[in-house]
Amino acid sequence: MSTITNGNASVHIGEIRPAPQRNRLKDTPVAAPKRVLLAAPRGYCAGVDRAVIAVEKALDRFGSPVYVRKQIVHNIHVVSTLESKGAIFVDDVAEVPEGSHIVFSAHGVSPAVVMGAADRNLDAIDATCPLVTKVHREAVRFDKADYEILLIGHTGHEEVEGTMGHAPERTTLVNSPADVPNIVVKNPDKLVWLSQTTLSVDETMLTVNLLRERFPNLQDPPSDDICYATQNRQVAIKKVAEQAELVIVVGSANSSNTVRLVDVALENGAKAAYRVDYAVEIQQEWLDGISTIGVTSGASVPEVLVQEVLDELSDAGYLDVERVVTAEEDLMFSLPKELRKDKDGNDDERGLGGRVRRLDWQG
Ligand code: SF4
Repeated sequence: MSTITNGNASVHIGEIRPAPQRNRLKDTPVAAPKRVLLAAPRGYCAGVDRAVIAVEKALDRFGSPVYVRKQIVHNIHVVSTLESKGAIFVDDVAEVPEGSHIVFSAHGVSPAVVMGAADRNLDAIDATCPLVTKVHREAVRFDKADYEILLIGHTGHEEVEGTMGHAPERTTLVNSPADVPNIVVKNPDKLVWLSQTTLSVDETMLTVNLLRERFPNLQDPPSDDICYATQNRQVAIKKVAEQAELVIVVGSANSSNTVRLVDVALENGAKAAYRVDYAVEIQQEWLDGISTIGVTSGASVPEVLVQEVLDELSDAGYLDVERVVTAEEDLMFSLPKELRKDKDGNDDERGLGGRVRRLDWQG
């Protein structure tokens, strides 16, 4: 078993997925009818879908091992499943044997990492989400125009490291509203804010408003940096949390957008909200006296894990599942260019536009 670090989180990969344990939870009486409100959208976004397919296709095309820098997406089940198929996850390109194939994760990399891979003669496939690449391009453009960049994001997150690496001399990281009084800039009239793609929309706007009080000429990004998937999942869980006493968010501890969903649920009416990787983590006492449970999942979570949560909740009497739909999503990204052709040079069927996420993906 190996360990991948991400900021403050450290994840052991190669762990066996615990089998769902049916009839573990008891059906205890509550005052009102039991029901589940299932948020939609939830789960896989277009960037995660593309990145996971990229590793699968690289394994098909080049054979094992294919190296992956960091977790391809922040979900322990996805990572351990790909590992079982022959992917090797590393923290640093220096760990990869010269001449190997390496995939860069959906969270993106700095130019220094790209150069490090080239120095080792690695065949790199860039699975950076196009919406992260968009933020990289903004950083480069504002850097060239002599702007200072205030990047709102979390210290140690791979996406933040990658974005800062595109304009290292001019970027200052703003972790939270509490950082704002201590920010020092050289020219408050040539200042722009950018952000990590997976933050809480509300907290980010609070930070921006405080920054603007200090720096009235602060410029906005050309378009939203917090991505459509993060925003849509937060809107959906807000609506669910208004009616649910308990919210269960499926996703991993190092998934920023997953953890934000827990925060958003608590800020919008849920009395309790818990994150679980797997259904077996649900505790009987969470359900005491609860009639309405909200369920959602982060952008890197396969739907099969949500289904297992619903199955275990049904054992506890939560048989009535109502979808709360706040948006429909159909965005797909084309695969990295290295993977758009098959071995014989023919266009791959998934090359342009990927595919609609297989809702039954089990790895
Ligand atoms: S959460 Fe957003 S930025 Fe991250 S991979 Fe998904 S679509 Fe891309």
